[in-house]
Amino acid sequence: MSQQPDDFERPVRGSRRSDDQAREALLPIIETLAAVTGFDVIGVSGVRDDGYLHHLSIVGPDDAREALLDSLAPAAMLVDALTKADDWGALKFVPHDRHTLDIDRWGWASDAPRDSKPGLWHPEDILVAPMHHADGSLLAVLGFDAPRDGRVPDGAERVLLDTYARQACRAIAAILESERLAEQVRLADAAADIVRRATSSMSVDEALTQSGPSIVDGFRADALWIHVFGSEPRPVHDAAPHSPPPALVDILARYAEAAWERQTVGVFAPDRRAPEPLDEGELTAVLEFLDAESLLVVPLGAGADCLGWIGLTRGHGSAEWSAGETAVARDLGRDLGRALANATNYEREHRLVQELQELADYKSHLVATVSHELRTPLTSIVGFLELLEGDPGLSDRSRSAIEAIQRGSTRLSRVVEELLVLHRTADSELDGARKVDFAAIVADIVDLNAGPAARRDIAVTGRLTAGPAWVLGAQHELEHIVANLVSNAVKYTPDGGHVLVTLEESDSTVLLTCTDDGIGISAADQDHVFEEFYRSTDPAAMHQAGTGLGLAIVRRIVDRHGGTIEVESTLGSGSTFRVRLPAA
Ligand code: ADP
Repeated sequence: MSQQPDDFERPVRGSRRSDDQAREALLPIIETLAAVTGFDVIGVSGVRDDGYLHHLSIVGPDDAREALLDSLAPAAMLVDALTKADDWGALKFVPHDRHTLDIDRWGWASDAPRDSKPGLWHPEDILVAPMHHADGSLLAVLGFDAPRDGRVPDGAERVLLDTYARQACRAIAAILESERLAEQVRLADAAADIVRRATSSMSVDEALTQSGPSIVDGFRADALWIHVFGSEPRPVHDAAPHSPPPALVDILARYAEAAWERQTVGVFAPDRRAPEPLDEGELTAVLEFLDAESLLVVPLGAGADCLGWIGLTRGHGSAEWSAGETAVARDLGRDLGRALANATNYEREHRLVQELQELADYKSHLVATVSHELRTPLTSIVGFLELLEGDPGLSDRSRSAIEAIQRGSTRLSRVVEELLVLHRTADSELDGARKVDFAAIVADIVDLNAGPAARRDIAVTGRLTAGPAWVLGAQHELEHIVANLVSNAVKYTPDGGHVLVTLEESDSTVLLTCTDDGIGISAADQDHVFEEFYRSTDPAAMHQAGTGLGLAIVRRIVDRHGGTIEVESTLGSGSTFRVRLPAA
């Protein structure tokens, strides 16, 4: 058969999600038709977007239903055959010898006798009532086959058949139209879903660009325009994009603000009244610019704020915007608006984080440079002080001045060294970690502090694990933690006090505690002691020299090692610092 493409293989099955609902609604209509018209086989086929007829609902013998239901056939072949049909009103009749459709492959043919006698029904005769869209394209087909009396309907029967077919077609068209709307809702939902997902990780622009094609498809539109206030309006999906003049941008923005307030959408079309608050001239200007039959403007917003609008256009001669479509569009505007607000917040936060990061980098760079620059002159100051100190001809005044300079430069050296350590430990990632015995470190530092502390009658005691306590880290940094906590404990404990350092190991953690019965830390100070340069305002603490950097460095090192640090203290009766590190 010349009209049939080689790749047309039947049956090709097709089914969309909402088909089942359409089928359920169609079945009673064709069952009634079968009962009143005297045809054994009656079916309804819808035309899909890809040009195939999809047999949606069939009544008749099992073999006919099995062959036809859900099968697909190219609609163009039938349209072609119908050009040769007898016109019976709503129904079109194409006798078997006037068309070239291979019914066995294309549809279904009963095995009734294939007699060509006039008046007798031939299994390859075609009797259908086509239904059309407003633009004249084929929407669906109601088909009749296998008359029970085996005859082609005559004059009186045709009149009756026509009446039934017209009624049935109206009902069928309504069902398919509502199914089409349901499909659009789903598509719009899908678009909103894309936006929802997209905005968690993308910029506003990317999110809108991504959802553009789904919105255009879902609404059967020609073009999609987006205007997010604060940026240029732009076509997301348009064959021939061109930017609107500022006057039009203002008109549409003014409309969107008003529409968001009233939670409505606007249809801009030549035969319609201008949507409030616009006038006829403004409506015409917009439509002329877009060269479109109609424009649907949907405000985008969140809360009380209108953030922009999207506009969907349809070309000349295309369908009007239905009530269902405008309702879906309004919801989409809310979804997109919310997504837009989220995305804008996300972008703002992202920018802020970046700025803070730059500031932190700058600070760190400044600290490092200044410390380095101070270190060299300090070294020569200390060197020359030692030289001067050895001069036997110094007066007592000069000698005490030199001692004061020495004390000052020692302090200054401490600050510089600590600043450099602070800079070196700025990165939260530790590289080059090795397995280190933390117990050995703690034991050494307890010993090292015990001697000098004893001179102030302070007992520094260690109660450590029986064997090694392995942690992953940098030896000198881990030493820094213990040295700092123990020296602080000694420093802030009056003569005759006690410092106890313990180390315990459980399955996954190594716990270091450093407890003293010293001056203690007030609850208010406890919140700040780990901050850089923080020193307590407690007179007893201020009495001791310090930089306020020690605990800040300790916390950074602990963080870099994946651990935690906490303090428990009562002013006047002592403090306990606890450090937990993951065991290696
Ligand atoms: P500093 O150089 O001042 O000792 P740190 O960062 O080591 O700086 O400590 C910050 C502040 O925390 C100290 O100024 C002190 O007030 C308080 N502090 C630290 N350790 C102790 C402790 N064991 N007992 C009492 N106060 C302490």
